[in-house]
Amino acid sequence: MLTLGLHPTGRHFLQIPGPSPVPDRILRAMSLPTIDHRGPEFGALGLKVLLGLRGVFKTRQPVIVYPSSGTGAWEAALVNTMSPGDHVLMYETGYFAALWTKLATRLGLSAEVIEWTDADEQLPNAPGWRQGVRADLIEERLRKDIERRIKAVCVVHNETSTGVTSNIAAVRKAIDACGHPALLMVDTVSGLAIADYRHDEWGVDVTISGSQKGLMLPPGIGFNVASPRALEVSKSARLPRSYWAWDEIIETNKSGYWPYTPNTNLLYGLSEALEMLQAEGLENVFARHGRWAAGVRDAVNSWGLPIQCADRALYSPVLTGVITPAGIDADALRKLILERFDMSLGAGLGKLKGRMFRIGHLGNSNDLTILAALAGCEMGLKLAGVNLAGSGVETAMQFFAAHPSQISQAKSV
Ligand SMILES: *Cc1c(COP(=O)(O)O)cnc(C)c1O
Repeated sequence: MLTLGLHPTGRHFLQIPGPSPVPDRILRAMSLPTIDHRGPEFGALGLKVLLGLRGVFKTRQPVIVYPSSGTGAWEAALVNTMSPGDHVLMYETGYFAALWTKLATRLGLSAEVIEWTDADEQLPNAPGWRQGVRADLIEERLRKDIERRIKAVCVVHNETSTGVTSNIAAVRKAIDACGHPALLMVDTVSGLAIADYRHDEWGVDVTISGSQKGLMLPPGIGFNVASPRALEVSKSARLPRSYWAWDEIIETNKSGYWPYTPNTNLLYGLSEALEMLQAEGLENVFARHGRWAAGVRDAVNSWGLPIQCADRALYSPVLTGVITPAGIDADALRKLILERFDMSLGAGLGKLKGRMFRIGHLGNSNDLTILAALAGCEMGLKLAGVNLAGSGVETAMQFFAAHPSQISQAKSV
């Protein structure tokens, strides 16, 4: 803990890809007094957020809300649908996908991993994990599974460790193309409410998400959405579950309540976040993040540094991963930027440790906070001795000036 006199003035720049900076409006909503979670007022709040969430997930199915982190929601998805020893096919797009695999293994499932790497040969310093999910490889594997041993295909929508957003509709198509009965489970912990996501239309069986990324809330809420088929499968699934069991929660949720104490104040915040998203419109929310991401990528390109995502079609609107030049420790760079400019950047995770850093462009932001974040990066890179090809800040300023946001366009008519 810093002593009071040494605490920096102004706002800390929380530019990690989650938890994201929380809008003041949400923080204020959360500061209301905690109420009786079995009293009459609470039911109305519960019903409101449960209904509002369906719009964000683009589903008509019930959304299950846990007082948990995203990791809890991963576990919930598996224990509600799988039986001991079941075989699951997981796709390693990065660190979060790998963590989910570890969790599945600890639960007693047999996890098989697909990983595919490309383009790294052209970049001697690139550490791997630069691609999205290849649906054709999933299809190829499922076709060989004559005995239908694979019970679920698990993929991450937006891989937060790399900044790659995979095509989920293509994975559904691949599963359907071979008529395989495996459930499709998708982690959109960081993608939800930033990148387009369609639980129903994409035929996802279990969606997993969390509060602290696109929903702009503090950490502490985990989500599952289950398809009718997943709900059916859950009736005969035999992994032990109690706290995570869908059936009891869905039943009590019908009147807006939970079987146990929900995180009341976070639900106040969620109610506010849903109002904000509804007022702006989800499509505008996606466009806003896409525009920031494009400005940030322009800046990184101007610096002459490689972007972690090697597939232009899969660039993430949530964050941008930046690979540091050989000999530049990305963690030392992040430390310098934190100490000098009071900005937190995302670390390289797992095998990417020290090799790259991540700029989050989500949560309570605007063009100027994004530019300031880029300025912090640019100053830090120069101080660390990186020879930049040009000014990323200058390029991003030009980009934002040349491409007005939807809000500013609406105001000027
Ligand atoms: C943040 C994140 C998680 C983990 O969520 P926790 O709240 O840290 O448990 C899982 N998957 C992805 C893709 C994430 O970004």
